Amino acid sequence: MLKGKVALITGGVRGIGKAISLCFARAGANIIMNYTSDRSAEDANKLVEELTALGVKAMAIKADVSKSEEAQSLIDTVISNFGQLDVLVNNAGITKDMLLLRMKEEEFDQVLAVNLKGVFNCSKAASKVMLKTGGSMINMSSVVGLNGNAGQSNYAASKAGIIGFTKSVAKEFASRNIRVNAIAPGFIQTDMTDVLSNKVKEEVMKQIPMKRLGSTEEVAQVALFLASDCSSYVTGEVIRVDGGMAM
Ligand code: NAD
Repeated sequence: MLKGKVALITGGVRGIGKAISLCFARAGANIIMNYTSDRSAEDANKLVEELTALGVKAMAIKADVSKSEEAQSLIDTVISNFGQLDVLVNNAGITKDMLLLRMKEEEFDQVLAVNLKGVFNCSKAASKVMLKTGGSMINMSSVVGLNGNAGQSNYAASKAGIIGFTKSVAKEFASRNIRVNAIAPGFIQTDMTDVLSNKVKEEVMKQIPMKRLGSTEEVAQVALFLASDCSSYVTGEVIRVDGGMAM
């Protein structure tokens, strides 16, 4: 479905991002991922080997998407090594959960800087390339951006912001053959959700009509649909992958 395409997946070394990297590589895409710390360089290199074994080209680059110059140099490195960029998945994200009264200003700022400004930084840099060729941008929102969640006002604001950003940029670029869509995952089994207590998990389970967590592969399959020509007339859309949670 993506043979010969070049896809950049931010935060593509673990969790949902890793599943997308593997899924896209199996579909024939060449993959670039970023990692953020020297500690994660080893994991990144292992994944590059795994992806290369699938018969595609793969590369991992250290970059912090919240910094505009690092996002720009990430895109520049993609172009100098691969010559094109067809798919951008803005997947990198963090949480710093706290009730509003106790939330520190830096906890709000950091989450917005990575989750929302990171999407702005990478989309802006990628759009300069995609304007010439067309492409697909996929932004990772969350059901929390649709419904809100106590203790996550910073995260919810960033994920709701992504939806407004997605629809605006979709309108700006529709005539230039760049499609821009968002995915709103519900409760997906990853490091991000493993840290939650059993009590919290039980409470969340009550809100999921399908009565189970989602897998990273189930999110990756929707990203594959949005990246490929199967969704050639879909733009400005938000697709929930949440077992019915935000219905
Ligand atoms: P994760 O913590 O496993 O992975 C997050 C990735 O983002 C990591 O690879 C990390 O290196 C990268 N990252 C963090 N800060 C960065 C920065 N400043 N610059 C570049 N990369 C950075 O999380 P995950 O569960 O795989 O989540 C992936 C995305 O899906 C996130 O945007 C998250 O908000 C969203 N999401 C997750 C769930 C869930 O249940 N896990 C639900 C809804 C939405």
